[in-house]
Amino acid sequence: MFESQSVPPISKSSKIVVLTGAGISAESGIRTFRDAGGMWEQYRAEDIATPEAFDRDPETVWEFYNERRRKAGEVQPNPAHRALARLEEHLLPGNFTLITQNVDNLHRLAGSKNVLHMHGELSKVRCTKCANVSETMELFEGIPYCDCGGMLRPDVVWFGEMPMFLEETQNHLYMCDLFLAIGTSGHVHPAAGFLQTAKSAGVVTVGVNLEEPANVRYFDFFFCGKAGGILPSLVDNWLEALSTKGA
Ligand code: NAD
Repeated sequence: MFESQSVPPISKSSKIVVLTGAGISAESGIRTFRDAGGMWEQYRAEDIATPEAFDRDPETVWEFYNERRRKAGEVQPNPAHRALARLEEHLLPGNFTLITQNVDNLHRLAGSKNVLHMHGELSKVRCTKCANVSETMELFEGIPYCDCGGMLRPDVVWFGEMPMFLEETQNHLYMCDLFLAIGTSGHVHPAAGFLQTAKSAGVVTVGVNLEEPANVRYFDFFFCGKAGGILPSLVDNWLEALSTKGA
């Protein structure tokens, strides 16, 4: 699918950092936020995805997250998720880091191992009193409570809250050879700034998105189209080069 000169070279010892956004899960049937038909056409972020919304009306917030949890339980990884898992398998241990803004678990289901969920995970709940985090896909009726009596909330990062793993991510961005961003609009910070950080650290930057994202100018290589079509060919191209180089 690609002219070899249009794909940046990698070696088996390359350190690769991948950032994924809602677009990579779109072909699995999970809606993005900002596209036409996206979730923010149906809901207002301030009603369901802020700490203030949860304080005001936890039942409505839980209704929204129960619905997202139900949907997440029904979908499967697509060829883009699986291509990233294949790439990780062929690199040296520790040289592949996948940072996702997504709260679904499709990367892990596809076989990716080193995944940092910077916006938390739909399958986890956190106690608002003792801060204990536990994993469950139960669909709650009403508001769930912890054994300590505290109210449970989804363990996801809401607007106005600090994303997870930021320091670790910055370190990975400075240390890597190639940064690949997939299915992310470049509007949500701090994730939108990772590309510029990597670029200014001299890292080769590659983007895959259905349309040009807001920060497209920082990509050295940009592939416009669906992740499920582009990623498998891009990864095949890289793996073929690794096997012929024996690198
Ligand atoms: P976004 O909705 O702002 O942007 C998604 C981008 O993906 C768009 O630029 C769109 O053109 C592109 N896209 C759509 N379909 C694509 C496809 N098939 N292949 C490639 N690109 C495609 O999403 P964002 O940048 O991730 O930021 C929004 C926030 O929404 C994040 O914080 C994330 O946590 C959250 N979110 C997560 C999920 C999920 O967990 N699956 C779903 C919706 C939103």
